[in-house]
Amino acid sequence: ATPTALLVGTGRGARLGILIKGADVLEDTRRIDTIVLDKTGTVTTGAMTLVQVVTVGRLLKDQALRAAAAVEDGSEHPVARAIVTAAGARALRLPAVTAFESLPGAGARAVVNGTLVTVGRAELFDEVPDEVARPTAEGTTVWVGWGGRARASLTVADTVRRSSARAVRDLAEAGLTTYLLTGDHDRAAVTVARDVGIPVGRVVADVRPEDKHAMIADLQRRGRVVAMVGDGVNDAAALAQADLGIAMGSGTDVAAEASDIVLLRSELPAVVDAIALSRATLRTIR
Ligand code: ADP
Ligand code: MG
Repeated sequence: ATPTALLVGTGRGARLGILIKGADVLEDTRRIDTIVLDKTGTVTTGAMTLVQVVTVGRLLKDQALRAAAAVEDGSEHPVARAIVTAAGARALRLPAVTAFESLPGAGARAVVNGTLVTVGRAELFDEVPDEVARPTAEGTTVWVGWGGRARASLTVADTVRRSSARAVRDLAEAGLTTYLLTGDHDRAAVTVARDVGIPVGRVVADVRPEDKHAMIADLQRRGRVVAMVGDGVNDAAALAQADLGIAMGSGTDVAAEASDIVLLRSELPAVVDAIALSRATLRTIR
């Protein structure tokens, strides 16, 4: 290929807010036929708000929230940020914790007032009582509890980025097959997929961070040339595994480092622009 044309392409990318790491990335971009989108922070803003708290027995909502927020104060996950922000909005004073431990893709735990408190997915508890097992609000639900027992459910809602649906449509028009990939529950994932027009059959939910890259590898084994778009630490292995890794500029440094392209605008239409740019640039060369 002609290096000059490729460099012109990468320069134009920079002006579109697309940071391209090296000229040969455009060649990879042109070959992509499948695109896997992470949900939280990629298709959605990742700025979550607490919408519902349901407690077991006579435990007060504020007590459950205070315990959860005390633990989550040490977490960086969007769910954790929502819980801490909600406690702040209710002016709850958070007790200091010790022995904080992050459980990637699952939750976090710490000792609060002498008790080991866990916050996160239902699998972290031996028992999730019926009263808190099925929250009615739409969104992502996590549980807070101690002694092996979940004591309250906390549901947070995320906002789909306004430009995501348009991007999904444009990607389909460009001939790409789009998947939604997430560690979140199936129900939350399907809601977002419907919002942006990804068929339910192409939603892969409940995926552990260490398994995200396996889904990419599986598509590659079936002959697909795959781009992955993500933002989190938990996406890094998948971004590296993909034929083309694309990181949201608003995401973590780990994701950006594992990627070939960084979207400074943090909006999915920039992916469409990157593909159009690569096709146009390589046409110039030929
Ligand atoms: P995603 O793929 O949506 O970015 P993750 O793989 O990071 O999500 O996490 C998967 C799920 O684990 C989350 O949807 C949430 O239910 C739970 N989770 C992860 N970290 C935390 C945390 N710090 N607090 C509560 N729940 C968490
Ligand atoms: Mg994410």
